[in-house]
Amino acid sequence: MDFPTLKKATNNWKETPNLKDYQKTYNTFAWETIRKELDGLPNNQGLNIAHEAVDRHANSAQATKTAIRWIGKKGNKRNISYLELKAETNRFANVLEGLGIQKGERVFSLAGRIPELYIAALGTLKNTSVFCPLFSAFGPEPIMQRLGRGKGSVLLTTTKLFKRKVQALLPQLPDLKYVLLADATEDVDEKVLSFARLMAAASTEFTIPPTNSEDSALLHFTSGTTGMPKGAIHVHNAVQTHYMTGKYVLDFQPNDIFWCTADPGWVTGTSYGIIAPLTHGITNIITEAEFDALRWFETLQEEKVNIWYTAPTAIRRLMRLGMKPKDAYDLSHLRLIHSVGEPLNPEAVVWGESALGMPIHDNWWQTETGGIMISNFPDVEIRPGSMGKPLPGIEVGLVQVEDSKITKVITEAGETGELALKPSFPSIFRTYLNEEERYQKCFVDGWYLSGDLAKRDADGYYWFVGRAKEIIKTSGHMVGPFEVESALIEHPAVAEAGVIGKPDPMAGELVKAFVSLNTGYEWSEELRLELMGFTRKKLGAAVAPKEIDFLEDLPKTKSGKIMRRLLKARELGLPEGDTSTLEK
Ligand code: ATP
Ligand code: MG
Repeated sequence: MDFPTLKKATNNWKETPNLKDYQKTYNTFAWETIRKELDGLPNNQGLNIAHEAVDRHANSAQATKTAIRWIGKKGNKRNISYLELKAETNRFANVLEGLGIQKGERVFSLAGRIPELYIAALGTLKNTSVFCPLFSAFGPEPIMQRLGRGKGSVLLTTTKLFKRKVQALLPQLPDLKYVLLADATEDVDEKVLSFARLMAAASTEFTIPPTNSEDSALLHFTSGTTGMPKGAIHVHNAVQTHYMTGKYVLDFQPNDIFWCTADPGWVTGTSYGIIAPLTHGITNIITEAEFDALRWFETLQEEKVNIWYTAPTAIRRLMRLGMKPKDAYDLSHLRLIHSVGEPLNPEAVVWGESALGMPIHDNWWQTETGGIMISNFPDVEIRPGSMGKPLPGIEVGLVQVEDSKITKVITEAGETGELALKPSFPSIFRTYLNEEERYQKCFVDGWYLSGDLAKRDADGYYWFVGRAKEIIKTSGHMVGPFEVESALIEHPAVAEAGVIGKPDPMAGELVKAFVSLNTGYEWSEELRLELMGFTRKKLGAAVAPKEIDFLEDLPKTKSGKIMRRLLKARELGLPEGDTSTLEK
């Protein structure tokens, strides 16, 4: 199937999108304009993310508007207005100050998506300390690693998680001064304290200290898809990118209700699950429960969600059900669907159009970039399978690198190169935690090298080819796993596919695929041969997989990315390396 260019998402919209003329906005964009749309601390005391996200709305006419609508696991709900969020985050900033936690010290969280996590995140930023969210599903070893490497001073968690995973680690964490238990009514000892008691005793008044836009704000660990996770450090200035992308990509309008399904344990859940929507003063839906297809559709319907930001792994799971949600649920409020985290197969974009009533807008970025860099926009035609075009203010290039030198900046359409960015945007990371040398190596001749390979077509759309580390070299061809995986999932039986290069004496590497199946299909030799034929027809013999195996589920990170390095290690019987982010 050839995928058509999809009509603009705005055809049946009431609102005019914020980005009306992509090319003009791109050509005339200036970060100063974005900075002016933000507030800044009173009396020119700098730029603080929490002030932009909370206080400036709490101090305005929309103070009583719902900032966070939290939906608990059991369906219980809590609305937190901007005013209330200001008071609660002030309390938490006072708690930290009272405990003697200074500017730049690190406050970690290890909790499910509970309101205390969000209050702690923003309160930490108010105190000019650095916030570092961890996935609550991490086991003791990854927690130890991250808290230890990051020299966490404070950990916010729950009694259950503390007892199960943290308590035994305390002797090995000399820098950890306090553990705050979100659900404890009383202190356990002088180090393990009740969050509620401290909060109740703290004032709701707090003045954010002067904050330099270059002050550290967030520490995010990467997903660990390709190896040991790296700790990327971001500064308060990143809020400019959060706000700008909220405006131009997510297209926040004043009355919007927004839902980002990501956990703050990875960067999307913080940049877009907390900061970006709040900087626009809109209502942000937070759901505590994990993925459940029917429940998700109910949430979209009941909460009248206008803009939805999710990930390919979730979309593929929804596709797997073989249903047409737009007929079963009232999705009439939904205006835009966005996706990030992995390449979004063209099949999924087109599925969105038929099953949800609108195409899915893919966008590309990384933990290191802090915010969206390349995207499909509401008012720009979508080419399914393409990541879209660079954001205003973001200069993107494709380069060839040899011996730490750029040997070519690609200008021709269709040629593959490493995706590189001019690092002159506010949210580019400022270092890798304890790995300054590795950080420096990412910057060559004025470019930040992303480690991903891509192509650009004649109209300026970017197409993901693969991670440089995962490209397969077979009989002189360079094959990107994404192309092969996308061809496989076009077959009705295939739900997900992961493709690797397997060492081969003749070809160098041969293309090997692992597939999981849609409901109603069973694995058989016949199906394997059918898939071999199917992909050969689509891709040609040189690119099509030479081997296809079945897996019930593909190994994925907790943020839902297929871990090809694990498929490869298992295939070859090699050590699995760091599996801290593996979804169990
Ligand atoms: P690690 O760096 O630890 O191996 P990771 O790169 O998966 O993990 P993240 O920063 O969470 O950690 O993910 C960013 C990467 O995810 C990108 O570099 C890219 O490879 C992939 N990615 C994200 N969005 C897209 C997209 N829309 N299309 C293709 N790839 C994407
Ligand atoms: Mg990475």
